[in-house]
Amino acid sequence: MRRWLKIDLHIHSALSPCALPEMTPNNIVNMAEIIGLDVIAITDHHAADNVLPVYNLAKRKGIICLPGIEVQTREEVHLLCYFTAPEPLLEFTNHILSLLDQRVPSIGAQLIFDENDRVIGKKELFLHQSVPLTMEEIWHLAENYGACCVPAHLDRPAFGLLGQLGFVPPGLPVRTVEGTLRRAQELAGSGRYAGVITSSDAHSLEQMVMLGHTCLHPSLDSIDSIWHWLKNPDRQLVKTFVLDF
Ligand SMILES: [Zn+2]
Ligand SMILES: [Zn+2]
Repeated sequence: MRRWLKIDLHIHSALSPCALPEMTPNNIVNMAEIIGLDVIAITDHHAADNVLPVYNLAKRKGIICLPGIEVQTREEVHLLCYFTAPEPLLEFTNHILSLLDQRVPSIGAQLIFDENDRVIGKKELFLHQSVPLTMEEIWHLAENYGACCVPAHLDRPAFGLLGQLGFVPPGLPVRTVEGTLRRAQELAGSGRYAGVITSSDAHSLEQMVMLGHTCLHPSLDSIDSIWHWLKNPDRQLVKTFVLDF
């Protein structure tokens, strides 16, 4: 039997204002290879320019890269949105970018790279600002573009759904959530959420190295099957927290 797939679906490139410049496409993919990740996702704040180079580099190494983005709602809740291909992600990202206040200048470098880690541009507006839409509005907008939505760091006080609102809005079809390393097993054991995953939320290469990872069943070995699992998770096909050795 093939081994379970080690995943990290929440990694920031140097396009995110708070990430280090070392978070280039090649560095991220090489680090993913070193620590044995089978599936990754680049989820920058309100931008996806570095997804395609990572997607292409990862593919050459046999690593699956799920196209993704992290969106900050009006309530300051972070929502991860995953797609089955880069194109709908880029279309959704353009929509989100058009809603941001273009006058707020960047505080970080917000670098855009090519596949050789050459800087080919940068975003001038500050990306880590709230989109002026509610969580429900963003959820449905993202789904219209073909996204599967996963609340990020659910139990974290800052920017987590439970930390910000204290509850999951009853009308929201939340199936999979991302928990912090500290509480993921407890969240999974509560039975409240069909799927619980852990991620690094890495803003540096060092942060990609975690104490434990979530693993998915070997049968989920494609972007489509992982996307469908996130949308409609089966508890038998996930190990929420596997200690790394
Ligand atoms: Zn976040
Ligand atoms: Zn993040």
